[in-house]
Amino acid sequence: MTGPSHADVFCQVALPKPVFQTFAYRVPPELRGRAVPGTRVRVPFGRRREIGVIDSVLGIPPDRTVRDIAEVLDDEPLLSADLLHLCRWTSDYYAAPPGLVYRAALPPGLLGEARPTGTAELERQVIELVGEAPTLLERDAAFGRAHRQRQAFETLEAIGGSAPVAHLEGHYGYGRSVIGGLVDRGLARIRLEAVTRDPFAGSGDDVELPRHLNARQESVLGALVRLAREPDPGVALLHGVTGSGKTVVYLRLISSVMERGRSAIVLVPEIALTPQTVQRFRAAFGGQVTVLHSALSSGERHDAWRSLRAGERRVVIGTRSAIFAPVPDPGVIILDEEHDGSYKQSDTPRYHARALAAVRGRAEGALVVLGSATPSLESWQNATEGRYRLFELPERATPHPLPHVDLVDLREVRARALAAGEAPESIVSPRLRDAVTTRLERGEQSILLLNRRGYSTFLQCPACGQVWSCPSCNVSLTYHRARARLICHHCAHEEPVPVCCGACGEAELQFTGIGTEQVERRVTELFPSARVLRMDVDTTGSKGAHGRLLEQVRRGDVDILLGTQMIAKGLDFPGVTLVGVINADTGLNLPDFRAAERTFQLLAQVAGRAGRGGEPGEVLVQTARPHHPALRAAVEHDYLTFAYAEIKDREEPGYPPHRRLVNLIVSGPSEERVAEVALATAEKAREIVERNGLSDIDLVGPAPCPIDRIRARWRWHLLLKSVRAADLGSLIRHLARHHGQPAGGLRLEIDRDPEALL
Ligand code: ADP
Ligand code: ZN
Repeated sequence: MTGPSHADVFCQVALPKPVFQTFAYRVPPELRGRAVPGTRVRVPFGRRREIGVIDSVLGIPPDRTVRDIAEVLDDEPLLSADLLHLCRWTSDYYAAPPGLVYRAALPPGLLGEARPTGTAELERQVIELVGEAPTLLERDAAFGRAHRQRQAFETLEAIGGSAPVAHLEGHYGYGRSVIGGLVDRGLARIRLEAVTRDPFAGSGDDVELPRHLNARQESVLGALVRLAREPDPGVALLHGVTGSGKTVVYLRLISSVMERGRSAIVLVPEIALTPQTVQRFRAAFGGQVTVLHSALSSGERHDAWRSLRAGERRVVIGTRSAIFAPVPDPGVIILDEEHDGSYKQSDTPRYHARALAAVRGRAEGALVVLGSATPSLESWQNATEGRYRLFELPERATPHPLPHVDLVDLREVRARALAAGEAPESIVSPRLRDAVTTRLERGEQSILLLNRRGYSTFLQCPACGQVWSCPSCNVSLTYHRARARLICHHCAHEEPVPVCCGACGEAELQFTGIGTEQVERRVTELFPSARVLRMDVDTTGSKGAHGRLLEQVRRGDVDILLGTQMIAKGLDFPGVTLVGVINADTGLNLPDFRAAERTFQLLAQVAGRAGRGGEPGEVLVQTARPHHPALRAAVEHDYLTFAYAEIKDREEPGYPPHRRLVNLIVSGPSEERVAEVALATAEKAREIVERNGLSDIDLVGPAPCPIDRIRARWRWHLLLKSVRAADLGSLIRHLARHHGQPAGGLRLEIDRDPEALL
């Protein structure tokens, strides 16, 4: 190859690597027509070949000799111009490696090291004969002693010239080497053929949707429909209490958008936890609906993606990554439960689907609707300051108003028991016990929430004080009784339960802190005839487990459903009339700026499960902190009071929504090196701030993270705060571009708009 000349064409390719730059390649003349942005290409990289995405075509040649693209893999771009724009924005805003953003935007397995067999699950391999078949006379010479290859060749001829590889293997018994031999001889080739499956087929058939909207729903719907027709509709915040009928409004809004030939994207926090939402969409739109979520196999996800891109289906429901769904011309993008933390990806690229929705909506003229009973304070501030339109559904659509909520003071429960000379009951207070008993007598259902799994959260030696903690993480181990193990909830390390203290020999070890397993045990003791179902990560590990368990509740085969936050989300069971929160303080005590907000949201959400049917609901919240403002507000169903108080509390420390945050996290195996690199990063950040006049940015730290060790990596962080989003962006892009990743197994993670600072 000669050096670059002006007759050549070059492009920048994004490879899925943790680097901020893209890589230049020459486009050989024969590939020119197909090498366009958004198309996957195979390129040489070092001594390997890798698959990346063409990010842009260069107008001028690079200033050095570059290698050639080896192959263009797609006949038309996988990513439309709009999606390319969204990916570039994401990479820029979060200072995230562009190749990792493209990988997040595409179905799994399409980028990375070139390994054709890795795609077997996505698509099926089909073998087909190519070229001129050797005549019968030529065959002896052509195949020689490769009799099996000749047989396989003739089998293929006999069955029409092509067949799935799995069919040749399974039905006719030809091995991979025989099939590969045909390909090597140039007689056949293997192509990939997409397989279509429909994992949610059928669900939604028996769902009844309300026929008529109430007056408030009608007026909100009317306004949203009008907004959606504007050329630049912007963002609407739909603040509607639990059970106010937001879902029905979404469905009607989508219908009106579809009537105008446009598509819809609906994001939900976790599909497995909200099967009823999917069923309602199925009931309304049938085969138009495609579901995208993380529990799908990569093949299923690939099918869904393809059908959307082809315009075969026009409604997509999915978790956060569905914001990249390749629907042509979305007219509306809905985020249900917009406050949910799962909309933020917790590893690179650490994007927030809400932010991307706003960007995509603006670029494609789609109305963005954020729905919640407890909006994030960021969205609330945007609405009250006029950047979002605010719509309210303050009342339930069902016969009964929001349930009555009462706090049960656990300190009083304890004092009273001690005064009476009894053992205090810290799991089910007498008041909660009576309430459950009443439900059991009436044949109604109860939900009990405790947001901690396991049996005991803490094991300690009362004699010498030793606490059993994870060898790799700085957290205590949780005792899981059913498995008789101590388990780390951060890294899944497990070990046997000690019979005595290894340090001092004490045999009576102390188990403290209640988890769901212990609640289950106590509840079955207290209510021996009740049918109890526990739902948490430990009981829902297998695929489809959520759906099966929830179906039992819906059929009425369960009297008491107990579990972690996964039972608080979006469920609509008319038989549930009591919600008990075993301990509301678990989340309040976390050292994080969103602790109060998360607790308020969780309480409002779980309280919202009660009294949705023909009978009114009741909620009992057990706490040792009954005066905490988040709990007081939850009792009154008073989002506004909570929001104003919490927004005020965040002003002084300069947390969102007042200021924007970036958390820079340095981690690595050596504490000393981590501290050094964190200090050096802070130094660089200060320099960038000074040199570029970004004086509004405050740097806090560096300091060890609240959880200073996870998976044997020490963690330090540095917090950046500013009212000027653009300045934060410049700073982190500068860091990502010019300082890259630290050497020696250390990592610098840039978390813009963090959901938590743990
Ligand atoms: P949200 O999403 O706001 O919590 P849902 O959309 O789940 O509320 O509605 C709560 C319940 O009220 C559902 O059972 C729904 O069928 C019912 N519902 C909603 N709108 C109406 C209406 N206009 N008339 C009667 N029932 C309704
Ligand atoms: Zn651990």
